[in-house]
Amino acid sequence: MDTVDVVVIGAGVVGLAVARALALDGQEVMLLEAENAIGTGTSSRNSEVIHAGIYYAAGSLKAQLCVKGRALLYAYCSERGVGHQRCGKLIVATSPEQVAQLSQIQAKARANGVHDLVLLSKAQAQAMEQALQCLAGLHSPSTGIVDSHALMLSYLGDMENAGGLLALNAPVQAVQLRQGPASHPHVILMQDGTELACRSLVNSAGLSAPGLAQCMSGLSAKHQPTAYYAKGNYFTLAGRSPFVHLIYPVPEAAGLGVHLTLDLGGQAKFGPDVQWVDAPDDLQVDPVRGDAFYAEVRKYWPQLPDGALQAGYAGIRPKISGPHEAAADFVIQGPSTHGVSGLVNLLGIESPGLTSSLAIAQWVKVTLT
Ligand SMILES: Cc1cc2nc3c(=O)[nH]c(=O)nc-3n(C[C@H](O)[C@H](O)[C@H](O)COP(=O)(O)OP(=O)(O)OC[C@H]3O[C@@H](n4cnc5c(N)ncnc54)[C@H](O)[C@@H]3O)c2cc1C
Repeated sequence: MDTVDVVVIGAGVVGLAVARALALDGQEVMLLEAENAIGTGTSSRNSEVIHAGIYYAAGSLKAQLCVKGRALLYAYCSERGVGHQRCGKLIVATSPEQVAQLSQIQAKARANGVHDLVLLSKAQAQAMEQALQCLAGLHSPSTGIVDSHALMLSYLGDMENAGGLLALNAPVQAVQLRQGPASHPHVILMQDGTELACRSLVNSAGLSAPGLAQCMSGLSAKHQPTAYYAKGNYFTLAGRSPFVHLIYPVPEAAGLGVHLTLDLGGQAKFGPDVQWVDAPDDLQVDPVRGDAFYAEVRKYWPQLPDGALQAGYAGIRPKISGPHEAAADFVIQGPSTHGVSGLVNLLGIESPGLTSSLAIAQWVKVTLT
C-alpha cells in the first residue's frame, strides 16, 4: 500500500490553504479532490467578500479566525498579486429601530477586535453613496472583496512548489482510523478500490465533511454530526451598479438580509437568501424567489428598476445545525477532542470560511503538531 505523511481531503479554498500550510511546513502532503478541478464546490459559489468580523459571537472560532484570517488574507493578496479591493461596506438602517441597533453592532464588532467601524448620519452615508436611502449607517472600511479563483490557484501553486501533490478525480469513500505504533496508521479507501496509508488526515470536504466523518471507522458517533444544507440564491443586477461600497441592511433574525455585493469588475449581485434544502446538489435558482428581493432592496435603493434582477447562481452553506437551532460555530475537531491521533475534521465551515482560510490552515497545523 502507498503511504504519505499527510492527506488532505477536499481542494476547496480551505483544503488548499491547509495543504499549502502543511507543505510549507516541510510535510509530505497529498491533496485528494473528488472532482476534475479545484474549487468547484462552495468555494466558487459565494460572495467573495473579505469579512471584517463584525457579527460573530465574541470568542467564537468564527470571530477569531475571521479577524486573524482577514489580516493574513489582505497581506497575502498584496504580496502575491491576487486580485482584491478594500472597497468597504455600509450597514444601513432604514427604520428608527434599526438606527438604535447600529451602536449595538459597533459594540459587538469591538468585542471581536474590529475597532474601525464608524457611525454615519444620514447625510454622511448619502454623501458616500448618492443612490442610498437610509436614516443612518455604519461604515466598515476593512471589508473588501477578493478574486477567489485566483486565490485558490495561488494556494495551489505554493503547495506544489513546496512539494505537495494534488490528485484530481480522487473521491475518498471511507477511512479506517487506527491507533498504535505504526508510522502510517490510518487507511484511506478510495472509491476506485485503491488504498493509501497516512500518518495525519485532514477532512476538508466541505458539504461532504460530516458524511465523510460518518464513514470513519474508529471515530466515536458523538463526533459525527448531521449535515444540513442552507442554500443561498443570488440575483444579479442588469446594468451598472450605482454603488461602490457593499451595502448591507441591518441583519434580521435569519441571515444578513438581502445585501448588495460587488465583484472586482463592478458587477453587483443581491443575496444570498436562505432556503433550507435536502440535498447538497440542489443548485438551481428559482426566478420566482427574485420577487421577494425587490421589496427588500428598495428599502435602501428605491430606484431599483423593475425587471433589473436576473436569476444568478446559488451556493449551499455547509451547516451542522438545523433550521430551528442556534447557528453553530466552526468545528475544528483535533486529537484533543476525539482522541484519534493525526486526525482533524473541519465541520460547518460556512461563511466566513473564505476570509478565514489562512487562519484555519494555521490552526490545523498547530492542532496536528
Ligand atoms: C452562499 C454563500 C456565500 C458565502 N460568502 C462568503 C463570503 O463572502 N466570504 C467568506 O469568507 N465566506 C463566504 N462563504 C463561505 C465560504 O464559501 C466557505 O466557507 C468556503 O468556500 C469553504 O471551503 P471548503 O474548502 O471548506 O469547502 P468546498 O469549497 O466545498 O470544498 C470541498 C471540496 O471537497 C471535495 N470533496 C467532497 N467530498 C470529497 C471526497 N469524498 N473525496 C475527495 N474530495 C471531496 C469537493 O469536491 C470540494 O471541492 C459563503 C458560503 C456560501 C454558501
